[in-house]
Amino acid sequence: MSARIIDGKAAAADVRARVEEVAADFTRKVGRQPGLATVLVGEDPASAVYVRSKGKATAEAAMASFAHKLPDTTSEDELLDLVDQLNRDDAVDGILVQLPLPRQIDSSRVIAAIDPAKDVDGFHPMNAGRLATGLDALVPCTPYGCLYLLKQELGSLAGTEAVVIGRSNIVGKPMALLLIGESATVTVAHSRTRDLPDVVRRADIVVAAVGRAEMVKGDWIKPGAVVIDVGINRVPVEDGKSRLVGDVDFARASERAAAITPVPGGVGPMTIAMLLRNTIVAAHRRAGLPDPEGL
Ligand code: NAP
Repeated sequence: MSARIIDGKAAAADVRARVEEVAADFTRKVGRQPGLATVLVGEDPASAVYVRSKGKATAEAAMASFAHKLPDTTSEDELLDLVDQLNRDDAVDGILVQLPLPRQIDSSRVIAAIDPAKDVDGFHPMNAGRLATGLDALVPCTPYGCLYLLKQELGSLAGTEAVVIGRSNIVGKPMALLLIGESATVTVAHSRTRDLPDVVRRADIVVAAVGRAEMVKGDWIKPGAVVIDVGINRVPVEDGKSRLVGDVDFARASERAAAITPVPGGVGPMTIAMLLRNTIVAAHRRAGLPDPEGL
C-alpha cells in the first residue's frame, strides 16, 4: 500500500483564497482593512524569515500588515509598552509576537499582556481556557491547521483513536483538545510515555509534534492510519548541505498509512493560512460581525 500524500500547500491556498474574499468583504462593510501586527525582537534568522513570510501573506490576503522590529536589547517593559499600544490601536485586529524572545524577556508575561481578542496565536491563557472548556476561542494555528487537514481527509473524526505525540502548549495540548472536541478518543504521549511504539500502533490518527528527526518508525503505524507530521528538523546530508525532515520516517510510514503529510509541504503552509484565518475571525468579532462562513 502506498499512502495518499496530503497536500498542505493546496489546502492552505484554499484557506488563503477564502480569507482574501472575506477580507475584501470586511473592508467594504467596515471601511478599513483587517490588520495584523507582527513583532520581531532580535536578529534570529529563522524568526526573521517566519515574520517576513507572515507579513507577505497578510498583504496578499488583502489585509493590512504592521511590522514592528525591535533590537535584541529590548527590555520586557519596552515590549509590554508596544503590546499595550497595539492592544489600544483600533486598526490592529491581531497581534503576533514572534517566539522565542531574548532571555531578558519573560514570554509568558508578554503573552498574558496581549488582548485575548487580538491573540491570533491563541497562546493567551484565556484562549487556552476557552478551548479547554469548549467555548469559542482563537485556537493555535498549527494544531488548527492539522485539524483542518484531518477533517478534509476523514470527514467525521468521531470514535477514532487518536495519538498525539508531544504535549507542548503550542501544538500537542491544543491538538488533543481539538480532537476531543471532534469526539476522537485521544491519547497524549510524551518523553515519559512507556512503550510509545505500542501506543502509536493502536492509532487511527497519529499527530507527531516532537522535534526529533524521523523518530516515529514505519512499523509503528497501523495499516490505514492517517499521519500528520508536525516536526520540522534540519538534518545534514553528504556534501555539507542539509534537508528538512519530519518526526516520522516518511518513506516507511507511507507503506502502511492511508494518508500522510509530507515535510515540507504538509502542516507548515497550513500554519500561516490559519494565522490569516484567525486574524479575519478576530476582526469580525471585534467589529461585532458574525464569524465569516467557510473558515
Ligand atoms: P516542544 O515544545 O519541544 O515539545 C516537544 C514534545 O515532544 C514534548 O512534549 C516532549 O515531551 C515530546 N518528546 C520529546 N522527546 C520525545 C520522545 N523521545 N518520545 C516522545 N515524546 C517526546 O516542541 P513543539 O513546539 O511542540 O514542536 C514540535 C515540533 O513541531 C518541532 O519540530 C517544531 O519545529 C515543529 N513545529 C512545526 C510547526 C509548523 O508550522 N509546521 C509549528 C510549530 C512547531 P516532554 O513534554 O515530556 O518533554
